[in-house]
Amino acid sequence: MVSRRAVVVGGVGAGIAATGGAAGYRVWRDREPASPPSQDDQGRLLWRNWSGIQNAYPKERAAPDGEEALAGILKSSPGPIRPVGAGHSFTALVPTGGTLLTLDRMSGLVSHDAATQQATVRAGTRLGDLGPALAAIGQEMPNLPDINKQSLGGALGTGTHGTGRAFKAIHGDVTAFRIATPRGDVLACDRTTNADVFHAARVNLGAFGVISEITLQNRPLKRVLKRTVGRQLDEVIEEWPSLIAQHRNVEFYAIPFTGLAALITVDETDKPVSPRGPDTDVDAVMELKKLRDVAGFLPGVRRSLAQAAFKDAPPDEAVDEGWKLLSNERPVRFNEMEYHLPLETQMAALRDVIAAIEKHRSDVFFPIEARVIDADDAWLSPFHERVSGSIAVHAYYKDDYRFFFDLVEPILRKHGGRPHWGKLHSLKHADFVSLYPRFKDAVAVRDMLDPDGRMLNDHLRAVFQDG
Ligand SMILES: Cc1cc2nc3c(=O)[nH]c(=O)nc-3n(C[C@H](O)[C@H](O)[C@H](O)COP(=O)(O)OP(=O)(O)OC[C@H]3O[C@@H](n4cnc5c(N)ncnc54)[C@H](O)[C@@H]3O)c2cc1C
Repeated sequence: MVSRRAVVVGGVGAGIAATGGAAGYRVWRDREPASPPSQDDQGRLLWRNWSGIQNAYPKERAAPDGEEALAGILKSSPGPIRPVGAGHSFTALVPTGGTLLTLDRMSGLVSHDAATQQATVRAGTRLGDLGPALAAIGQEMPNLPDINKQSLGGALGTGTHGTGRAFKAIHGDVTAFRIATPRGDVLACDRTTNADVFHAARVNLGAFGVISEITLQNRPLKRVLKRTVGRQLDEVIEEWPSLIAQHRNVEFYAIPFTGLAALITVDETDKPVSPRGPDTDVDAVMELKKLRDVAGFLPGVRRSLAQAAFKDAPPDEAVDEGWKLLSNERPVRFNEMEYHLPLETQMAALRDVIAAIEKHRSDVFFPIEARVIDADDAWLSPFHERVSGSIAVHAYYKDDYRFFFDLVEPILRKHGGRPHWGKLHSLKHADFVSLYPRFKDAVAVRDMLDPDGRMLNDHLRAVFQDG
């Protein structure tokens, strides 16, 4: 079995070995980034995000075991307070020197309704735990992101999404939630009760309060066929509109400097279960890195080695319930920028991004991901009132990611993109006012719930406050 990345790079190692000390060989710097101290000079312990670029030394840590305790902490804790999920955001949403609050003790199913296929879930539940819990009651979330390590509350916080023309991001299937405000009130919100809060805080950056429970519109469990195949990148870009129409879920990874793409499709099936094999993500990513290390300065060699390796790579197929196949393991750490663009401009933007990277950044080796997401009406949703095509650029955690900002972001902005809230971007308040028609309305609701700004840190002040 091979992973979606291995499918296009399997055998590259052999090809590289054959080139031995080919001209242009260069050993790239491969050092661990400096680690911050595990505690500060006052003995406060370090908090770090998944990729390692965000950190903080919170003064207090809180882990309430229920809504009442949560509301009490919000009301009584002095100073700033920031909720944290699984710490998988790349942006500085979480860091605080005040109180860091986790809902790890508030997880699991609260109730469900077989007739409506809805389930109410505590916000601290990790997506990876939710899959089997919902399967046990015959339900599944309609779609899932690339990994399932996130908490449900954290996923809503940033507009976390998967791919598929008919599928909204996770918050698009939320029918109700309960939120504890910085004053210690608990509000039940849906389209008719506290409707403004419902619209403003379904995607909330953890800046409106702390969501305690979420009601999801699920659907009956389905068996799906997941297929990963290596293709020529130009063909996939040409076929993207028809691929979107044809498949339930579809995405591809464009592999820079190779002319190749890994195309992943997921469709419902009644074929017998054929479980996915062991994860090979580490091997695949490291093969791409090796190709970069050895042939980074020889683009022609880099491309022909990859093309030769791809020639004989077999497609990878697995059949199982969706929650077992849609998300993946990503053990190799990276940093990421992702923008959501009007679907019409997505492929032009992708071509521009690849051309810019291939012209200026021979050190880049991580694949670039393209997905499609349906529109929704949450005020801070990057998919607000528009079907979107996303483009995500990654950099190995040891590598310089500043090219995201000076090379990639201007292209994605020029093509009308809105950034993923949890992934790196350089935008500020005025940018969001112009990108989001209901941004000022959302800010008014936020200010009403948190008049003293206790749920803000520096990053969030730059988002929600002018100047
Ligand atoms: C390897 C990897 C793969 C990824 N794949 C995808 C993908 O496929 N699609 C995608 O869209 N994103 C993806 N992401 C980004 C990720 O889904 C988001 O950043 C998500 O928000 C992380 O969830 P978390 O539980 O780690 O939340 P955190 O990063 O800890 O927090 C995110 C935000 O939610 C807030 N928050 C957390 N809990 C609550 C709560 N109960 N109430 C209110 N606010 C809360 C926090 O304050 C913060 O503002 C990926 C990230 C990584 C590292």
